[in-house]
Amino acid sequence: MNPFSLEGRTALVTGANTGIGQAIAVAMAQAGADVIAAGRRDCDETLALMGGGRQMRLDFGDPMAARDVFSGERIDILVNNAGIIRRADAVDFSEADWDAVMDTNLKALFFTCQAFARAALPRGRGKIVNIASLLSFQGGIRVPSYTASKHGVAGLTRLMANEWAASGLNVNAIAPGYIETNNTTALRADPDRSRAILDRIPAGRWGRPEDIGQTAVFLAAAASDYINGAVLNVDGGWLAR
Ligand code: NDP
Repeated sequence: MNPFSLEGRTALVTGANTGIGQAIAVAMAQAGADVIAAGRRDCDETLALMGGGRQMRLDFGDPMAARDVFSGERIDILVNNAGIIRRADAVDFSEADWDAVMDTNLKALFFTCQAFARAALPRGRGKIVNIASLLSFQGGIRVPSYTASKHGVAGLTRLMANEWAASGLNVNAIAPGYIETNNTTALRADPDRSRAILDRIPAGRWGRPEDIGQTAVFLAAAASDYINGAVLNVDGGWLAR
């Protein structure tokens, strides 16, 4: 079998209605997976782009929302992509913005992984791909809860790989650089900031959602079976600078 194929695998992607999550769902469908596009709103556009697949409502307003998702059917691949960001100076940052980001980006991610693992560990096989960030490695500015959550995603990815690798699970993360999505629309609309970012990217371009989609396919496929606990930066060389 082609080690890069996802034929015969079922994949669940969170936050699949738009941006990076949508690109991951489409790339996995193109690689042959049966994809469940999960979102807090409808994923009709993603299903249209995939030319099929299924969708599921999953809103991490309740961080435990996925507790029962994996007991009903065999799901082989979990992609934790849903995420939010809140911006304010650290000195002014509110508890509400701290909790909202930590709940969605970290608590929901961990308990979704836990629910997946409880179903996958007895089978001895499963792939988790978490979406981290450059701010899993760097401090950033005006995004304290986002930085804390994404550092947490990197740490938890390593912990879960440590605990579950011997039982056949792979837990890895992708740390995207600057990617053209809704998340970065305001940044790209600001000519000075946009130019400063572009000047610092060795590849000389912003990332596209598809760049992350293809990497997620690799980390979900047999080709990456010996990769575990990795946090792979896909950033056009940003961190190499
Ligand atoms: P988008 O804002 O386009 O997508 C974020 C996704 O998360 C949306 O589908 C959104 O749903 C979903 N989401 C947010 N809150 C919840 C919730 N409570 N329950 C369920 N789903 C939720 O941004 P991106 O595609 O850029 O971001 C995807 C991931 O990539 C995030 O984890 C982000 O941190 C990460 N990332 C992005 C980078 C970039 O440059 N774009 C760089 C590094 C990391 P809805 O549409 O309903 O809001």
